[in-house]
Amino acid sequence: MLGPPGAGKGTYAEILSDKYNVPRIPVGDLFRQAIKDETKLGKKIKKYVSHGDLVPDEMAIDLVKERLQEDDCQNGFFLDGFPRTIIQAEAMEKFKKIDKALNFVASDRVLMSRLSGRRTCRECGAIYHVENIPPKVEGICDRCGGRLYKRSDEKPQAIKNRLRVYREKTKPVIDYFRKKGLLADIDANYRIEEVDKVISQCEKHLQNLS
Ligand SMILES: [Zn+2]
Repeated sequence: MLGPPGAGKGTYAEILSDKYNVPRIPVGDLFRQAIKDETKLGKKIKKYVSHGDLVPDEMAIDLVKERLQEDDCQNGFFLDGFPRTIIQAEAMEKFKKIDKALNFVASDRVLMSRLSGRRTCRECGAIYHVENIPPKVEGICDRCGGRLYKRSDEKPQAIKNRLRVYREKTKPVIDYFRKKGLLADIDANYRIEEVDKVISQCEKHLQNLS
């Protein structure tokens, strides 16, 4: 699943993973978990993640490769947030086959508004939005009562940086999959209530995969 931060990949991945009964792998979460667990790799990637910069290729590749070798990925998976560079895409080809690259497209205006309003639960990781998906009680998670916070990479300057980095470094990856005939463009300029419109576009592209 390709697309800029804020395109809604996480939401779509969750829905698709339920429909197709295969795991979703949000690579950003793999990074954050490694940082939280203070693993050797986690300590190395911490500074990149908190500044909204890309994690160096070899570190990202190691983490994803390890995850995709687990049993639950053997019948398929939705990978979100990887590959982000040509080097990652080429490395991945050597250890896993990609059937389809879903490319979620949304305007900068839509992306900025979605990202700057996003709040994450410190305890369970649930995601809210101050306007689109507000919690029942401001600042508190509906699911677990945990405190909501704004991730450091969701402050305006970090968002601008992420969109710029995305454009510079990930666009070639989109071209890479397009050349291979694997790319499917998905219009993601929809409101949260219209998520079905995005999912049905995805299903159309996924229906002939084994
Ligand atoms: Zn929570």
